[in-house]
Amino acid sequence: MRFRTLEITLGLLCFTLGLFLIGYDIYEENIQEHENERIEASIEQEEEAALEEAEAMSEVASKESAIHIASDEPAAFKHDNPRYKESLQTFLRRNKYDKKEISFITKAISQYYDIKKIDRKNRFYFKRIRDKESGMLSTVKIIMMFDGAKRKLNLVRDENNNFVAEGVPLKLKKKSIYVQGTIKDSLYRDALKVGLSKYLINKIIQIYSFSIDFQRGVKPGETFEVMYDKTYDEETGYVDDGVVIYAALYIAGGPAKIYLYDAPKGQDYFNEKGEGVRKALLRTPVKGARISSGYGRRRHPILGYTKMHRGVDFAARRGSPILAAGDGVIKKYGRLGGYGNYILVQHNSEYSTAYAHMHKYAKGISRGKRVKQGEVIGYVGATGRATAAHLHYEVHYKGKQINPQKLKMVPHQVLKGKQLEDYVTVRDIIDDVVLSLKKRKR
Ligand SMILES: [Zn+2]
Repeated sequence: MRFRTLEITLGLLCFTLGLFLIGYDIYEENIQEHENERIEASIEQEEEAALEEAEAMSEVASKESAIHIASDEPAAFKHDNPRYKESLQTFLRRNKYDKKEISFITKAISQYYDIKKIDRKNRFYFKRIRDKESGMLSTVKIIMMFDGAKRKLNLVRDENNNFVAEGVPLKLKKKSIYVQGTIKDSLYRDALKVGLSKYLINKIIQIYSFSIDFQRGVKPGETFEVMYDKTYDEETGYVDDGVVIYAALYIAGGPAKIYLYDAPKGQDYFNEKGEGVRKALLRTPVKGARISSGYGRRRHPILGYTKMHRGVDFAARRGSPILAAGDGVIKKYGRLGGYGNYILVQHNSEYSTAYAHMHKYAKGISRGKRVKQGEVIGYVGATGRATAAHLHYEVHYKGKQINPQKLKMVPHQVLKGKQLEDYVTVRDIIDDVVLSLKKRKR
């Protein structure tokens, strides 16, 4: 009898422990989930705070900036954007619109935009005008930003007291802003501090990324200047991202100045000498080669079955020099399975190129070595899974292979003759504007 009680007690104990463990597991999972959500939300908050900070600073910067907005009346518009995971309805409720108004505004906006896609990136500028006699809301103006376009929606009451939406094109004004800074922390953070928006900083980094390795090249104490055109709506106070007109990075031993210019092949950035800053990758990184197999599905010559070919093959004689498709850093080199002797060159944060089946590498190749466009990095061979000597060439965009022949990169432009003369005139005008903004800032 006593033995039996012990058995039951033990059994119960095990059962309880089991329950406890299951419970704990669920509890832990929940915690993990909450933790993930918390991290996500805190990243969002941090981003938002950084954005707000940058905006506040940019407002200070524009006040300090010499060019004055003609009418400096404070805009009666209130602006706000939906919070993380907030629906349009909740957002409007938070902005003190009543049920009827929300239903109407939602309907009106949905004529122009899929309201499910509205998120915190869509900034709204509100202004509610009330009828003096009835006290009723007579007009609601909304400016929304979406798909890179700005739309102004005027919501007006018709004779039946229903709201009607009318889309009005935004007529934006322009002003030039000059900022300068010294790197203490990183180009990114220090540029935010002087009032450049995240958008503009990313743009600048992107433009320079073909020539400057930001991870290695930037040192504290180095300086930068940027002049950009900011467009804004006078009525609401809405300010858009702006366009970089001029930038100078006094980094890695010298000023690297860039100027925006409308060149025949399209608007782009040029250095002082009139050479395009952006460089295209070489489409044929072997001299005198022909394409023997393009990008796409094909029957594999060795494996026998249909396989996706994620590169381009160039038939060339064994030992033909292989050239780096662009300036960059050697990220990988060595034997890599079917690829044989393989090199991966990283050109910037987005683009890398890979070279396979090499007979041998060029002298001095090592991981982390910087290479110039056109520099010999190796020689054509048939190492790995290859039937004959050829170069297998891949272009990686954000870590994934893309078709090199469909590469749409802005070609490297070099201005000459009359174009160069015109460019020099534009460049000098920009320099003058920069100089005058600089003087007024002091
Ligand atoms: Zn291939």
